[in-house]
Amino acid sequence: MTVLVLGGAGYIGSHAVDTLQASGYDVAVVDNLATGHAEAVPQAVRFYEGDVRNRDFLHEVFRKETNIEGIMHFCAYSLVGESMQKPLKYFNNNVGGAQVILETMEEFNVKHIVFSSTAATFGIPDTSPISETTPQKPINPYGESKLIMEKMMKWQSTATDMTYVALRYFNVAGASNDGHIGEAHKNETHLIPIILQVALGKREFITIYGNDYNTVDGTCVRDYIDMEDLIDAHIKALEYLKAGGKSDQFNLGSSQGYSNLEVLETARKVTGKKIPSKIGERRLGDPDELVADSTKAGEILHWQVKHGLEHIIENAWKWHSSHPEGY
Ligand code: NAD
Repeated sequence: MTVLVLGGAGYIGSHAVDTLQASGYDVAVVDNLATGHAEAVPQAVRFYEGDVRNRDFLHEVFRKETNIEGIMHFCAYSLVGESMQKPLKYFNNNVGGAQVILETMEEFNVKHIVFSSTAATFGIPDTSPISETTPQKPINPYGESKLIMEKMMKWQSTATDMTYVALRYFNVAGASNDGHIGEAHKNETHLIPIILQVALGKREFITIYGNDYNTVDGTCVRDYIDMEDLIDAHIKALEYLKAGGKSDQFNLGSSQGYSNLEVLETARKVTGKKIPSKIGERRLGDPDELVADSTKAGEILHWQVKHGLEHIIENAWKWHSSHPEGY
């Protein structure tokens, strides 16, 4: 039986492929390489280069892959700032892609999908930590597109015997334990890789946006989830669906927040580098704190966080210091 990984050449998808393969699953990958890297997909894995919105292409993949037991869906655009400038690009790829995928699953009788959703579906919540019952009120087209995708899956699973799990990640970071794959976004917006670019001398300094938030040291607090823990949740979610589990959503974080300055200090400790920093203006729409309540994933998927911030940055540093130019 095969797990079809959509977006398997991307940052998170490539780690899912790596772990699935190492755990004995048969794996196939679809990716259009819009933001992914062919080099991140192992040679031994069947790789179909193409766009999930291309119905003929996707049908061809499903005709060839006759034993698909489940889909892992990572293929989306995910830059918040760009989504504010080009909202239709986000609805087209994220929502349009999900439409074709769900229709193709129905036509080919594929029953299960584990889907990357995001903390961005919550917008700026009134309470912290954020649980699955916290109202979802996205404040950008990216978060809105992911919320629409969640709803499409919900209604499709109500109408048919398809089941899904939506995993709402908070801040994903880290890399494989041996550092052979990792984060290589052309347009990097995530704090940890940017800090490590400063450590590598590729940037002069890191700007921390605002130090007057209502937090422990005035800088924003975010929840970081380690890549290995994140992929473990995907595999547990797939096995849960295969065992007859009902469709559901889970918030995935470590349930512990770290301020931007705490992240910076940890990176200085791990890399042994000075990592110059400056305090900049606050960014519009940045809440004080975004921390997940992942109790439900523990109860239903039996998922537990194993790794904290230091481990995350150690693995990220292994990757970035050995691949300063990415793939
Ligand atoms: P990524 O850009 O590295 O990976 C996405 C992959 O999907 C890329 O390889 C890209 O080429 C591919 N892709 C995009 N559109 C496609 C299409 N139409 N057809 C085929 N392939 C397509 O991003 P990532 O950081 O690995 O994120 C993966 C998923 O996780 C995304 O859906 C993102 O919204 C979600 N997510 C990420 C984070 C994070 O912190 N990185 C947090 C929350 C949610």
